[in-house]
Amino acid sequence: MQRNTRQRQAIQKAFSHAGRPLGPREVLEAAVTVVPGLGIATVYRTIKELVDAGEIVPVELPGENTRYEVSGKHHHHHFHCNKCSGVFEVEVCNFDATVPKGFRLEDHEVILYGLCDNCAPGRKTK
Ligand SMILES: [Zn+2]
Ligand SMILES: [Zn+2]
Repeated sequence: MQRNTRQRQAIQKAFSHAGRPLGPREVLEAAVTVVPGLGIATVYRTIKELVDAGEIVPVELPGENTRYEVSGKHHHHHFHCNKCSGVFEVEVCNFDATVPKGFRLEDHEVILYGLCDNCAPGRKTK
């Protein structure tokens, strides 16, 4: 298999296995176990290719570096861990808004902040 193809597949897999948005650093950490010697420049280039191909989409959080996730997911929200900076997916949407009379709500964006399972104090040790 061609080196480029292997790199690309390893990066695609990193996203699909993570099931949550990943930044380039996190992608590198996951993919380098499959493709030793993989560099951050290649990760950035491949991410750009995957975005252009519509396979992944950027996830923008205010004040944060862009992360990316697999495209075509149904409506969901993101949870940002204040400690490890991990971003996780929240599938349940309970968000309800009352908009002024005459307005028509079309979409919403909600970001939840807190501590992830790994970082929350009192986490049960398995
Ligand atoms: Zn955390
Ligand atoms: Zn929602």
